[in-house]
Amino acid sequence: VPVVRAVNLVKIYQTGGLPVPAVRGVDLRVEPGEFVAVMGPSGSGKSTLVHMLGGLDTRTSGEIWVDGERADTLTESGWAILRRRKIGFVFQFFNLVANMTVADNVELPALLGGSSPRHARERREYLLGELGLSGKADASPAQLSGGEQQRVALARALANQPRLLLADEPTGNLDSRNTRDVLRLLGEVHRQGQTIVMVTHDARVAALADRLITLLDGEIADDGAIASPRRPK
Ligand code: ADP
Ligand code: ADP
Repeated sequence: VPVVRAVNLVKIYQTGGLPVPAVRGVDLRVEPGEFVAVMGPSGSGKSTLVHMLGGLDTRTSGEIWVDGERADTLTESGWAILRRRKIGFVFQFFNLVANMTVADNVELPALLGGSSPRHARERREYLLGELGLSGKADASPAQLSGGEQQRVALARALANQPRLLLADEPTGNLDSRNTRDVLRLLGEVHRQGQTIVMVTHDARVAALADRLITLLDGEIADDGAIASPRRPK
């Protein structure tokens, strides 16, 4: 069963009465364990596509399936439940809970997902450690830099070991050292079997993926395995 599948997915925004087609009939299947990078020029529909796959934008038409479950017909609260069970997000605009510590922010999704407190704590320690944030566990989000908050948001998205990780420019605001930490962790969870769909404009980031989808004007212009001499298929 694909982790996520889109069938003839369409999004047309209405702005001031004028239709703006953002996604124009995308067909996509992502199999378990795949790491898919989505690239394309600004305005080609990348963000709209991944937002729809996570139910953050409504579709105009077409189908979305998550882990074998029909998702496009879900209500807002149905999507919220599906996300809690199966989907982790990393976006540029991370919404950490301001009055909770970093540790609690990261542990919360695992606890809500039914992990034991001990397992949630171990997972949090592992993720913050990988991201160089062990010393920040007791800080509040407001005490962190933007790059640190972004890495905490990644740790939170992975806390639950979600079936699907959706990421929109996860290294967008990071300096090169922090970008390396994020890429190392993404590569590591991918090797552990994590399925990832990631929007990026950075070819070095995309090189970590094993499949590259290129969007042009809301359509898939190219979809294929990334040829890498170091990672023969
Ligand atoms: P990308 O992520 O590739 O930059 P987007 O998905 O953000 O592309 O945008 C695709 C198209 O949809 C663009 O023409 C953009 O202006 C338009 N668009 C995106 N979000 C909205 C919105 N909320 N309202 C109206 N148009 C939008
Ligand atoms: P990105 O390139 O990362 O998708 P954008 O600058 O295109 O970011 O979009 C930032 C925000 O503005 C998003 O929430 C998007 O939905 C919204 N947006 C983008 N284009 C339009 C538009 N033409 N009209 C209204 N909202 C838009």
